[in-house]
Amino acid sequence: MAAVDSVVIVGGGISGLALAIGLARANIQVQVLERSTDGNVLGIGMALQAPALRALDALGILEQCQATAFAHEVSTQFALDGTVIGSQRMPLPGQLGIQRKAFHRLLLNEAHRVGVTVRFGTSVVSATQTESTVTLVLADKERVECDLVVGADGAHSAMRKTLLDSDLVPEFTGQATWRIGVPRPPEVLGMCTVVGGPLSVGINPVTESEAYIFVVQNVAEPSHISQTELLRRLPRLLGDYGGLIRDLVTTVTDPDAIVYRPLESLMMPTPWYRGRAVLIGDAAHTTTPHMAAGALIAIQDAVALVDELVRNTSGETALQAFMARRYQRCKLLVEACRQVGEWQKAGRVRTPEAGRLQAEVMAALASPL
Ligand SMILES: Cc1cc2nc3c(=O)[nH]c(=O)nc-3n(C[C@H](O)[C@H](O)[C@H](O)COP(=O)(O)OP(=O)(O)OC[C@H]3O[C@@H](n4cnc5c(N)ncnc54)[C@H](O)[C@@H]3O)c2cc1C
Repeated sequence: MAAVDSVVIVGGGISGLALAIGLARANIQVQVLERSTDGNVLGIGMALQAPALRALDALGILEQCQATAFAHEVSTQFALDGTVIGSQRMPLPGQLGIQRKAFHRLLLNEAHRVGVTVRFGTSVVSATQTESTVTLVLADKERVECDLVVGADGAHSAMRKTLLDSDLVPEFTGQATWRIGVPRPPEVLGMCTVVGGPLSVGINPVTESEAYIFVVQNVAEPSHISQTELLRRLPRLLGDYGGLIRDLVTTVTDPDAIVYRPLESLMMPTPWYRGRAVLIGDAAHTTTPHMAAGALIAIQDAVALVDELVRNTSGETALQAFMARRYQRCKLLVEACRQVGEWQKAGRVRTPEAGRLQAEVMAALASPL
């Protein structure tokens, strides 16, 4: 018998939907309460690296992801002027590039298919616990009871306060990232990075016809910038870059092809649970995207939590075991990404030390969950 019969997940993003799919497949009753009214997500694309693919396989959705995404065959490095300076073949499927909206749709469709109830336009105003149950009061005053509530409501989680009484909020790191949707050049067959230059820049293919340029830049303030202003600033931002980057920038005419985000970081101290409530994903650990692995650890959280809830008969033991499996790994990634960001802010972009740190962290994230 599993540790719980019924779970409510607050937040229907990557971690919440991944968890819902895993729980439903384990015959645990699950509903997702999502604040947005239409289930749409903002974003261009993302990389799903090998450990994320293994976690998606554990949830039974790797093949669907492969069918929707672009499988990376090579990893390529360019000089600032666009000359290719190196490329390495990757084992298939070593890494996927995927459109963020397509990934979200895939998770949502699969959640529906395995019997998860997803309620949009819903949020929780309070949660009270007894030894045997949790009662949630929703914004429309409806009361929902369950054995376990999971806060999967992202970086600016309200559940951190409601469930764990934590006042922690993400910290602005002094950098921002751009994601710029562009056509995929035929020669881009995997992640491309530019070595040299003042910014961290690269290209990630996400479908046969689409890719995105990613940029990390140092910024003083976490300001909002309008879409038209982003489009206006783009040619100057990448003015030093030649070759493919220069050619691709000239194709960008739609302001909505650009997503700009000031970067934030947060690491909740252990434990991320209290009684019958637990946090997963960005709500517990918000990382900057320097190693493209925030979703990776969020999906791993989901797999580990399903595993512990199924293999244990007590909720407390399951959550303890979940923490033991997740805390150090997530902290390692969050801190390493902060470190790479600090190096970049000091002008040390794509240095060998950053490459070594990334290799060490990815090896740790790839070890069995
Ligand atoms: C620019 C950028 C690029 C990135 N690129 C990559 C990448 O290439 N690879 C990678 O692995 N990771 C990447 N990441 C990280 C990744 O996007 C996150 O780690 C991942 O989305 C976390 O999933 P989550 O479900 O925890 O949170 P989210 O995806 O943020 O989902 C949270 C959900 O909760 C909902 N919600 C919020 N508040 C409430 C509430 N009060 N009640 C109900 N619902 C609520 C939201 O509407 C949302 O649907 C990137 C992040 C950024 C910012």
